[in-house]
Amino acid sequence: MLKRVNRVALIGTGFVGSSYAFALLNQGITEELVLIDLNKEKAEGDAMDLNHGLPFAPSRTKIWYGDYTDCGEADLVVITAGANQKPGETRLDLVEKNTRIFKGIVEEIMASGFDGIFLVATNPVDILTYAVWKYSGLPKERVIGSGTILDTARFRFLLGDYFDVDPRNVHAYIIGEHGDTELPVWSHADIAGTSISEWTKNKPGYNQTELDNLFLNVRDAAYHIIQRKGATYYGIAMGLVRLTKAIFSNENSVLTVSAYLDGEYGQNDIFIGVPAVVNRNGIREIVELDLCKEEMDKFVHSVNVLKKTLEPVLKR
Ligand code: NAD
Repeated sequence: MLKRVNRVALIGTGFVGSSYAFALLNQGITEELVLIDLNKEKAEGDAMDLNHGLPFAPSRTKIWYGDYTDCGEADLVVITAGANQKPGETRLDLVEKNTRIFKGIVEEIMASGFDGIFLVATNPVDILTYAVWKYSGLPKERVIGSGTILDTARFRFLLGDYFDVDPRNVHAYIIGEHGDTELPVWSHADIAGTSISEWTKNKPGYNQTELDNLFLNVRDAAYHIIQRKGATYYGIAMGLVRLTKAIFSNENSVLTVSAYLDGEYGQNDIFIGVPAVVNRNGIREIVELDLCKEEMDKFVHSVNVLKKTLEPVLKR
C-alpha cells in the first residue's frame, strides 16, 4: 500500500495565496497541493502555470484546482481568501464582511470531513483565526494564525541590516495584534546571545532613537509597501511556507503565530501573536516571555483592542 502523503488545501489564490503556492513548490514542502478559490478560472490557471514549473522543482508535487470536497483528505488547510479593505471602508466593516465569508468557507471545509490543521493569513488575522477556531470546533492547538510571523521577520531583517549581521543570528520578537498595537520585545532581543543593549554599549554610531524608528518601520511596513505596489505578498508567503515546513517536518520550531491564550500572559479566550512551539500536531506550547512592565502594559492594551474587535465573531 502507498504511504499516505501530505496534502495542503489552499483557499484563496490571490496575491498571497499564489505566492505561497509558488514558494511551496520551489521548496518542495508538500506532495499534494489543491487550489480552491471563488474565482475558479484563477485557481485553474494557477494550477496549470505551477505545474509547468514542475520539471525545475526540487521534488514532485501534485497540483490541481479543486473544491471543498478535496479538503477531506488534507493535512493542512491554508486560508488566504477574503475581501480587502476598500476605500471608505472601516476596519470593522472588513471584520464583518470577512467573518461572514469565513463562516461559509469553514462550514464547507468541515463538511468535507477535514480533521487536520488550519493556518490562517487573511486580515484581520487574529480575529479571523478566532472565527475559524469557533466555526470549526477543532482543538485550539490545531488552529494557527500567521500572527506576527511577518512582523518578526521584518524586525529581524531591519535589525540585521542596522547592525550588519545575518538576520538569522538576530533573535527578536514582535508580539501582539498583527496591526497597529503590536509591540517589539526589546527586553529579549539579542544577537548571537548578546543583548541589543550590550551589543550597542561599546560601539559608537548606534542609538535608541534609530532603534525606535526601526520598529516604526516594522509596524508600518504594510502601509509603505501597499502605497508603492498595492499589496504585500512575498514576505507573508515565505512565512506561511516556513510554518508549513515546521508542521510537516515536526520541527518543534519557535515561531511567532496567532495562538489561543488560555491563561498564558494572564490572558484568556483570545488569539494573538506570541512565540510558540510548532510541530506536526500544531501548537505544542506557548513560550511565555518574561516581559518588562512597559511591554506587558502594551500587550494588555493590544489584547483589549482585539477583544473589542471580536464582537462580530462572537455574535455569529
Ligand atoms: P487578493 O484579493 O489578491 O486575493 C483574495 C482571493 O480570495 C481572491 O482570489 C478571491 O477570489 C478569493 N476569495 C474571496 N472570497 C472568497 C470565498 N468566499 N471563497 C474562496 N475564495 C474567495 O488578496 P491578497 O492580496 O492575496 O490578500 C489576501 C488576504 O491576506 C488579505 O486579507 C490580506 O490583508 C491578507 N494579508 C495578510 C498578511 C499577514 O501578514 N497575515 C500579509 C499580507 C496580506
